[in-house]
Amino acid sequence: MSHSQQQFENTVTVIGGGVAGMSAACALVEAGFRVQLAERRGYLGGRASSYLHPGVNEVIDNCQHVLFGCCTNLIAFYRRIGVAERIHWTREMTMIEPGGRHSPLGPSWLPAPLHGLPKLLSAHAFTLADKLALARAFRALLRPVPSDATENLGAWLRRNGQTQGAIERFWRLVIASALNADLDTIALPYAAKVIRELFMNSAQAGSMGMSTVPLSELYAGAEEFLRQRGSQVLFNANAESAQWNEQTRQWKLITRTGELLSDFLVLALPFEATAKLLPHLPPAPGADALTSQIQKHEHWPICSVHLWFDRQITDLDHAVLLDREIHWMYNKSRLQPGRKLKGSYLELVVSASRPFAALSREQAIAQSLSELTEFFPLVKEAKLEKAAFVKEVRATFGVPPGIDAARPHAASPWPNLFLAGDWTATAWPSTMESAARSGHLAAEAICTAAGEPRNILAPDLAPSGLMRLVKTASSRNPAPQKADS
Ligand SMILES: Cc1cc2nc3c(=O)[nH]c(=O)nc-3n(C[C@H](O)[C@H](O)[C@H](O)COP(=O)(O)OP(=O)(O)OC[C@H]3O[C@@H](n4cnc5c(N)ncnc54)[C@H](O)[C@@H]3O)c2cc1C
Repeated sequence: MSHSQQQFENTVTVIGGGVAGMSAACALVEAGFRVQLAERRGYLGGRASSYLHPGVNEVIDNCQHVLFGCCTNLIAFYRRIGVAERIHWTREMTMIEPGGRHSPLGPSWLPAPLHGLPKLLSAHAFTLADKLALARAFRALLRPVPSDATENLGAWLRRNGQTQGAIERFWRLVIASALNADLDTIALPYAAKVIRELFMNSAQAGSMGMSTVPLSELYAGAEEFLRQRGSQVLFNANAESAQWNEQTRQWKLITRTGELLSDFLVLALPFEATAKLLPHLPPAPGADALTSQIQKHEHWPICSVHLWFDRQITDLDHAVLLDREIHWMYNKSRLQPGRKLKGSYLELVVSASRPFAALSREQAIAQSLSELTEFFPLVKEAKLEKAAFVKEVRATFGVPPGIDAARPHAASPWPNLFLAGDWTATAWPSTMESAARSGHLAAEAICTAAGEPRNILAPDLAPSGLMRLVKTASSRNPAPQKADS
C-alpha cells in the first residue's frame, strides 16, 4: 500500500510517545488508520530517550538502553521505521574483576544450549564450584517453569545449591540487573525466561544490541514515518481527560493544547500515568478492578554516571564490572562514534540499587571514579573533564511472583479504548521489547475491533541446535521465526 492510500477511514489517538505508543502508532498507520500521537513532552522516546544535559552541555541517553536478538517486536518496529541498521550488535561480553583480570564470555561453534559453555568453563571470574553450580541451574531451567510458579529467584537459587560466587557474580549481576530488582523479589518464570533467551535458545537470541546514535535520534525515525504517511505527532499535549460519545461512537481527548476526536483511543502510558488519567475517563464497570491492578505495581530505580576523560582509558566497548556498586560500563565514545570526541565518554550503570540512588551527585561521582580505577588503571592518569549523575527512580516495574494478575490485556473496560505500555500483559519484564509488544498487541486489538483483523505481533525466534528438542513454556505468539545457531 502506498503512503497516501488509506485502507480505513478510522482514526486513532495514541496517548504517550514512548516505545509502546510509537510502535502502536506506526503499526496502525501501516494498517491504514490515521493516527494522532499525543505526547506530553517535546520529544519522543519516553523513558528510552536522550536529551541535552544542561550541566555538561552534552546529549546523553536517559541511561544506556540495550536490546537482545530475542527482542523480535522491537526489531520489527526498528525495521518498520527504517532505523534497524543503527543498532550495533555484539555476541561478546567481558567480565572484569577488581584488579583488572578479564573473563570474556560469548558463543562458540557448539550447538545451543552448549554454545556458551567453553568460554564459561574457562572464565577466571568463576571457581570450579561456581561453574558446576551454574551448569546445574541451567540444566534445571531446561524444564519448563509454569508461568504461575510462586517461588522467587532467591529462594530457588538457595534450593538449587548455588554458590556465593555464582549468586553474586552471575545471578545478582547479570540476571537481577537485567530484571532490575532484588533476587528475592523476582518471580522465577521471569528469571527463567531471561536465562533461556539470553544464554540457551541460540547465539542470535542472546546477542546484544546498542544504538550507535543517541536514543532520541533513533526514535526520530518514528516521527518521520508517521508524518510522511499523513498522521500527526503532537508535542506538549498532556492528556487530561477523555469523553466517549455513544451516538457518534467517538472519543474526545482533552489535552493541555487542544481537543482531539477519534474512533479509537490507546493509552500507551506507564502504570502511574495511567492511574492519574483513569479518574478523568467516564465511569465504567471494571474501572475499579483496573485501578487495583495498577496499585500492585512497584518501581525500581536505575542510576547512571556519565564521565568525560581527556583520553581513552579502555579499548573495550562495554564490560560487566564485578563485586562493586557499578555494574556495567559502556564506552559511549566507541559505541556512538558520531560524537567525535577527542578524549573518551564512559557511561556507568547501577541497577536496582536504592542506596546508590540516595547518593548525592558528588558522592556518586567520587565512588564511581574510585571503583573505575580498580578496573581500569589508566583512570588514575586521565583528567576528568566533566561528569553527570542521573537517577531514574521510576525506571522499571518489578516482576514479583503473582504480578501477571496485575498486568491488564489491551482490551479495557471502555468501548474502543485499548491499553499499552511495558507494564501491560506481555509476559516480558520492563523493557523496550515489552513496550513494543504491548503496542503491537493494542494495534492488533484495534484492527480486530475495526473488523479487519491482522497479525502484527512479531513471532518469537525459534530455538536453535539441541534447544529445538526442549519443550518450552507456552507462547502466545503464532509461528516462531528461524534462528541461526
Ligand atoms: C534508566 C533506565 C534504563 C533502562 N534500561 C533498559 C534497557 O537497557 N533495555 C530495555 O529494553 N529497557 C530498559 N529500560 C526500560 C525501558 O525504557 C521501558 O521499559 C520502555 O521504554 C517503556 O516504554 P513505554 O512506552 O511503555 O513507557 P514510557 O517510555 O514511559 O512512555 C510513556 C510516554 O507517555 C508520556 N506521557 C505520560 N503521561 C502522559 C499524558 N498524560 N499525556 C501524554 N503523554 C503522556 C511520557 O512522557 C512518555 O513519553 C530502562 C529504563 C530506564 C528508565
